[in-house]
Amino acid sequence: MLDIPVLISGGGPVGLTASLLLSRHGVRSLLVERHPGTALTPKARGINARTMEVFRQYGIDAAIRDAGLAEGGTGLIVWTETLAGKEIERRVPGRATAKSMAATPVKNCLCAQDDLEPVIRRFAESAGPGMLRFNTELTSFSQKTGGVTGTLTDRTTGQETPFTARYLIAAEGAQSRVRRQLAVNMVGSRECLRQRQYSVPRRPHPVGPASACRALFCRARRPPCHVPYDQRHRSLGAS
Ligand SMILES: Cc1cc2nc3c(=O)[nH]c(=O)nc-3n(C[C@H](O)[C@H](O)[C@H](O)COP(=O)(O)OP(=O)(O)OC[C@H]3O[C@@H](n4cnc5c(N)ncnc54)[C@H](O)[C@@H]3O)c2cc1C
Repeated sequence: MLDIPVLISGGGPVGLTASLLLSRHGVRSLLVERHPGTALTPKARGINARTMEVFRQYGIDAAIRDAGLAEGGTGLIVWTETLAGKEIERRVPGRATAKSMAATPVKNCLCAQDDLEPVIRRFAESAGPGMLRFNTELTSFSQKTGGVTGTLTDRTTGQETPFTARYLIAAEGAQSRVRRQLAVNMVGSRECLRQRQYSVPRRPHPVGPASACRALFCRARRPPCHVPYDQRHRSLGAS
């Protein structure tokens, strides 16, 4: 039986940050992430100033800025019906305003999730060596007086490990199993999940305007289809 003070389920930005912060405060935790590594798709790009303040407090803001887009590196976010289809909307990404700059010295940042997560992971692993396990899923849990018990499953071997923890942090994202089991409702519209959405973060590249862009194409009620960017041929990998 694995006995740990805090189990963190999910290795997205929230889980990775929780792991880092707990380690920095001397609290032992174990983070489990069901995928083999960090995000492969860009997903979130805009990190607001408040979040950057937290990253700054823990000394990782500069590394995140380095991993993200240079200021002014994106002109637009464009939504279209398909990769080559009709344009739905385009927006200039949010910038630090004079009003927000008066409240904090920290600026927002554009760093897509697949660039952000490896940075937080690196710091979390260095602050808590051996405290992050990938390919490992929280497959069941129940609450007891004074803690949580449950099972972790190694997704490569199928091996199950029972655990007991004082606290469970469910950082499992929108489809969280823990949230559903605890009957915690989602608040707000899910309209965006039913739309077709295509977003292309771009970054400047010496060779040409289409270079170094990556794409995420989401279809209604189907898993997102990731369109990888081929660095070598400077083209999108699929249509
Ligand atoms: C196209 C797109 C654009 C977006 N743009 C923005 C933006 O600009 N700004 C912004 O703030 N947000 C944006 N978001 C939302 C943002 O991606 C989420 O808010 C963010 O990912 C939430 O982080 P998280 O760590 O809570 O969850 P996630 O990033 O979803 O991570 C959860 C992790 O938990 C793992 N997991 C789940 N269940 C288990 C389990 N039982 N055991 C082990 N692991 C488990 C999953 O594999 C996943 O890796 C965007 C999302 C999309 C799809």
